[in-house]
Amino acid sequence: AQVIVVFHDISELKRLEKIRQDFVANVSHELRTPLTSIKGYSETLLSESDLSPETLATFLNVILRNTNHMVKMVDDLLQLARLETRQTPVKPLPVHAGKALLNAWKECEPLAQDKKISLENLLPKEGILVSADFDQLVQVFRNLLENGIKYSPPNKTLTVSCQAIEQTVTFSVRDEGPGIPKQHQQRIFERFYRIEKHRGSDSESTGLGLAICRHIIRNFGGKIWVDSPNMDGTPGTTFSFTLPKASPEAEEENSK
Ligand code: ADP
Repeated sequence: AQVIVVFHDISELKRLEKIRQDFVANVSHELRTPLTSIKGYSETLLSESDLSPETLATFLNVILRNTNHMVKMVDDLLQLARLETRQTPVKPLPVHAGKALLNAWKECEPLAQDKKISLENLLPKEGILVSADFDQLVQVFRNLLENGIKYSPPNKTLTVSCQAIEQTVTFSVRDEGPGIPKQHQQRIFERFYRIEKHRGSDSESTGLGLAICRHIIRNFGGKIWVDSPNMDGTPGTTFSFTLPKASPEAEEENSK
C-alpha cells in the first residue's frame, strides 16, 4: 500500500509541475505580443526623423494601448495569485448585492454608452443580502457586465436578475450577444482561454476575467456557470453564480 501512495504523490507532483510550466509559458506568450509591438513602434519612432504629427500620435497611441494592456494583465495575474494562495482574506460579511451591482455598472457605463447598451436591473427593490466581500462582488458583476458589453452588438440590453431558494441566492447576468458554443463553455473559466474569434479584438481582453470570477465565487462557497443560448431559448449568454444568503441580523451584528 505504501508503494501506491508514493507513486500517487509523484504523479501529483508531475501534474502540478506541468500546470506550473504551462502557466509560465502562457504568461510569457501573452506578455510577448504587446511587448513586441511596443518594441517595434519605439524603434520606428527613433529611426524615422520625419514622421508627421498624426503618424507620431498614432504610434504613441499604439504604445500606450499595449502598455495599458500589459498593466491590466499583470494586475489580473497578481490578483489571481492572491486569490489562489488566499492571501486576500476571505471573511464573508453581509453585502447588499444591489449596491454592488450599481457600483459595477457605474464603472462599465462609459463602455456601455459607447455601444448604447442598457441595463435592466431586476434585483428586488427591497434589497438582497448575501454573504461575500463587497469589493469582490463588485468585481464579479463588473467582469460579467463588461463581457456582456464587449461581446454584444450595439443597442442591446443586459439583464441582471436573482432568485433566492432557501439559503442560496442565484444571480444571473444575461446578454443578447453572439452566444458561446458548447465546446468552449467549460474552458472559458480557465486562465487565458479566449474563443479564437475574440482574440485580439480589443486590448482590454486578457482571458483572466472569468478565472478571477470563479475563484472569488468559490472562495465564498458558491459556484458559477454559463448557459448559452439563454435558458428561454433566446440567442445570447447567461452567466449565473450562487452565493449564500446573509440574514439582516448578521448585518446588524456586523455594524455594531
Ligand atoms: P476576456 O474577456 O478578458 O477575454 P474572460 O475570462 O472574461 O476574458 O472571458 C474569456 C472568453 O470567454 C472571452 O475571451 C470570450 O471569448 C468568451 N466570453 C466571455 N463572456 C462572453 C459573453 N458574454 N459572450 C460571448 N463570449 C464571451
